[in-house]
Amino acid sequence: MNARLEDLPIRDDLRGQTPYGAPQAPLPVALNVNENTHPVPDEVADDILGAVARALGGVNRYPDREFTALREAFAEYLGHGLDRDGIWAANGSNEVLQHVLQAFAGPGRTAFGFAPTYSMYPLLARGTGAEWVAGRREPDFSVMPDDAASQVADAAPDVVFLCAPNNPTGTPLDLETIAAVYDATDGVVVVDEAYQEFAPRDTPSALTLLPGRERMVVSRTMSKAFAFAGARVGYLAADPALIDALRLVRLPYHLSALTQAAATAALGHADTMLRMVGDIVEQRERISATLDALGYEPYESWTNFVLFGGVDEPRATWQALYDRGILIRDVGIPHHLRVTAGTGAESTAFLDALASIDSAA
Ligand SMILES: *Cc1c(COP(=O)(O)O)cnc(C)c1O
Repeated sequence: MNARLEDLPIRDDLRGQTPYGAPQAPLPVALNVNENTHPVPDEVADDILGAVARALGGVNRYPDREFTALREAFAEYLGHGLDRDGIWAANGSNEVLQHVLQAFAGPGRTAFGFAPTYSMYPLLARGTGAEWVAGRREPDFSVMPDDAASQVADAAPDVVFLCAPNNPTGTPLDLETIAAVYDATDGVVVVDEAYQEFAPRDTPSALTLLPGRERMVVSRTMSKAFAFAGARVGYLAADPALIDALRLVRLPYHLSALTQAAATAALGHADTMLRMVGDIVEQRERISATLDALGYEPYESWTNFVLFGGVDEPRATWQALYDRGILIRDVGIPHHLRVTAGTGAESTAFLDALASIDSAA
């Protein structure tokens, strides 16, 4: 006899919640969770393997709790005058964001974001016992500086998430809006730049805003542009004092010696690791143009995915693609679907299958 979840003495605020659950179906073309579908290049994989093998030699000991070499590697990769004291990392940027929430949100506090946005923000916030407050976007999913600032001032949250560019919509967010939101709150402002490497080359990062803004955090991940989702490595840059707050909530030795070795080795080949970004951006543009030609309404995207509207019945279209071996994402926005830009062949498979379905409204 199996117990039911409802029968357990679980926290009241977790009752009735559903876990994160993007389908992990073994389909030939998986374009649903914005992974980089290009594998790690062989020459980098060899180097990572060597580094992991060396780390294994010392795996009887706890790893460097301060992951010093890795923080130095991230500081060098990010530039902007950062050094290791201004860097934090964890097992995916999801854990990095969880650390921020554990330190600055939690019971009796609130976290805020402009919906629709990354589905993990509310889950992570509630997991720490904080309340999630959803702000509003324009009909085209953009946010304007004055409106953003007044919504944040009204909500007075403890933590604000600004997803730049935004998932699941792909929408860019300018620095003016970020600065306006910062000035409108006394809370911590997290700028999630998970997709920054896919933005146009000359786009300034929110890293340029960090000096003098000690409540601002800029988070990044190796999961997307770096083709490293399976290794689970995310990081952030912030004032060293803010990072001291994160040390209060992390588990000791949270980054394994193997993870530290693999990520540091991969960062030594940043240019090679990022080699496919340009190709993915080309596929994204081709997907958008073709969706438009097929009668759908793709949104401007600065990421590795495209949100498109004009879908008569998203559920039916999602299923029809699934039946053709192609997995994309129904993000719950009526008449919309989201697709990750894959390799040329994967993107073509998606576009051909969609054309054969003919489900534009
Ligand atoms: C994919 C994604 C992340 C990355 O999560 P990881 O835990 O680093 O894999 C973070 N933020 C957004 C908005 C994302 O889409």
